[in-house]
Amino acid sequence: MSIEIPEVPAEQQKPDVLAGTLYLVATPIGNLADITQRAISVLKQVDIIAAEDTRHSRQLLSHLGINAKLLAYHEHNEERITPGLIDDLSSGKSIALVSDAGTPLINDPGYRLVTRAHDEDIKIIPVPGACAAIAALTAAGLATDRFSFEGFPPAKHGARIHFFEQLAQERRTMIFYVSCHRIVETLNDMLTVFGAGRRVTFAREISKTFETIKRMKLSALASWVEADENQRKGEIVLVVEGNVAQAADNAQFDFYLSVLLAELPVKQAVNLLVKMTGQNRNDIYRRALELKQS
Ligand code: SAM
Repeated sequence: MSIEIPEVPAEQQKPDVLAGTLYLVATPIGNLADITQRAISVLKQVDIIAAEDTRHSRQLLSHLGINAKLLAYHEHNEERITPGLIDDLSSGKSIALVSDAGTPLINDPGYRLVTRAHDEDIKIIPVPGACAAIAALTAAGLATDRFSFEGFPPAKHGARIHFFEQLAQERRTMIFYVSCHRIVETLNDMLTVFGAGRRVTFAREISKTFETIKRMKLSALASWVEADENQRKGEIVLVVEGNVAQAADNAQFDFYLSVLLAELPVKQAVNLLVKMTGQNRNDIYRRALELKQS
């Protein structure tokens, strides 16, 4: 794909990257135009670019006309090469960390380097840009005020079921990265644990030719993906509605508790609700105190 990258107006350009600074630079997740002018400027100027896959990043860089010093930084060598990178930063070199796609550290290497850089008081500058999780969330048509990023569910069925069970009561919208090779089993396991009525947004190949964004009930989505092999190709994010039924139950519970608290001392209100609902006394007591304080 050939695209034209506009020049950054001179007044918006920082003359140089800062010495001894670690830049975390987001790169495109598909469409090569999805890179910021600032990212290009930083990548042009840093002394070293640490890349998850140097061959992959070389393609992007040559597309951008950047001929930089590339160094491999991936999950198999990060422990070994982090001290050297920290030394480089401490001696004044500027380093940009990039991953194969999207934002570094989001299910990609970099945590070790960033945490060590903090330990050494090294300046860290994120250069924001594409991230599949956030792109999928914004297009999901599900609550965005609170959400949790859950990464990749486990590959094995038993562990995956357990993983979902731990999230069954989660009220926030949940974001999962899913391998296309496991999408059918993953949706079936979600169906088992979250139930047929949960709404899920399927975001596949974001920003690429076969981009597909669809929101459906879990049961319909599982059948659709099983029936259409094209939906089992490429890169996929699932955005899953939180347990809103649980949230509604809790709202009703809070209402009853508030009514009792308005009439009775905390202990009596709690005793009554324990009798009425059979729920755990400590949980009710804790909630009563929260409601009183708010
Ligand atoms: N660092 C990346 C980011 O910022 O999104 C994520 C890297 S993670 C190793 C790769 C996973 O991200 C894929 O398996 C897929 O779940 C998701 N992903 C990446 N690009 C995508 C795209 N264009 N469309 C949908 N999902 C994508």
